[in-house]
Amino acid sequence: MYYYLKCIECGAEYSKDEVIYTCSKCDGLLDVIYDYSSIELDMEKLKTECPSVWKYAKLLPIEREPVTIREGGTPLYKCDRLAEKIGIKELYVKHEGMNPTGSFKDRGMTVGVTKALELGMKTVACASTGNTSAALAIYGAKAGIPVIVLLPAGKVALGKIAQALMHGAKVLSIRGNFDDALALVRTLCSQEKIYLLNSINPYRLEGQKTIGFEIADQLGFRVPDRIVLPVGNAGNITAIYKGFREFKILGITDSLPKMTGIQAEGSCPIVKAIKSGAPEITPEDNPETVATAIRIGNPVNAKKALSAIRESGGTAESVTDEEILEAQKDLARLEGIGVEPASAASVAGLRKLVEMGVIGRDETVVCITTGHLLKDPQTVIEVCEEPTVVDANIESIRKAIFGNNK
Ligand SMILES: *Cc1c(COP(=O)(O)O)cnc(C)c1O
Ligand SMILES: [Zn+2]
Repeated sequence: MYYYLKCIECGAEYSKDEVIYTCSKCDGLLDVIYDYSSIELDMEKLKTECPSVWKYAKLLPIEREPVTIREGGTPLYKCDRLAEKIGIKELYVKHEGMNPTGSFKDRGMTVGVTKALELGMKTVACASTGNTSAALAIYGAKAGIPVIVLLPAGKVALGKIAQALMHGAKVLSIRGNFDDALALVRTLCSQEKIYLLNSINPYRLEGQKTIGFEIADQLGFRVPDRIVLPVGNAGNITAIYKGFREFKILGITDSLPKMTGIQAEGSCPIVKAIKSGAPEITPEDNPETVATAIRIGNPVNAKKALSAIRESGGTAESVTDEEILEAQKDLARLEGIGVEPASAASVAGLRKLVEMGVIGRDETVVCITTGHLLKDPQTVIEVCEEPTVVDANIESIRKAIFGNNK
């Protein structure tokens, strides 16, 4: 398959055999460029086979057997009760918490770790707010290569650390935030023969673009009016938009969704840039939010994400931690969808934008829930009522359920 890497800033081109993450001339972000006219898809297979990342292998930059634990193929739920509460006609939730490690990061890592092997790299590393490290740990384990992860100390949800540890990664807790950890791991990977698998690595985004393919696929090759998702490093919003663009280029679909990114109020450089019309973001030094997966002050894919949002006619909005936690409960209690706080930002943002009149009530909307509830049990314990402790007899149980008068 023919493809190469191209700088989005200066247009410099790099061969697929190079180990490179950003442009060596201007430090710009790189994109994977294909010759779409040479890609032949089996439309019969596309219409009948179940969705999964590797169903779309002909649109992925990989030539060897993939390192896979059956990622993708996550459910797209039609959410009528939640739609009614928010006041829109047609709402779907794409629950990425149903991936092998419980977040969409698996889609990027199945491709990224396979690419590491293809390039002959024998060790992989990342900085992470948690989910990236969990995903890298399982694909490294499956591939049989060492994994190094750098995490911001004290700011990673319990379930995510548990995964990185159990799957055998070398886990370093940095006295600093995510942005510090990323700067350090980039230095490490430039000094040693270690493959960097943060979302600055363009191959990860290639795996994640399959979310866009799957949504179109699951809607019968129809494109929703809008995609709403949480934004941290802004790789996913970029990747999903690319997926929809490619299906349109290939003539499989005929429109594009409005890409709508949601950030937490305490950590929202993309929202500020969209609202002010600035060409670039201004990094935030001390990002803070209960949604630790999007607690990022200097999103590495900001440039790509700003283009995706603007080009698609989408927007960006911020929500408070309270709004995030309320949306988390709504997803759980109206739809049976258990998500970690960052994921609920999508639904909180949708509600706010509908109330503001920015999103029309007749739009077909897909919210992406990026990670599973069990990733962050500590927050649940803090925001839910505690279990009622009762004596082991039926009177106490009846009293606890019905009160004193029954
Ligand atoms: C990584 C992550 C995000 C943010 O995705 P970006 O690509 O960094 O914007 C959101 N939610 C969860 C649960 C994540 O793990
Ligand atoms: Zn460049």
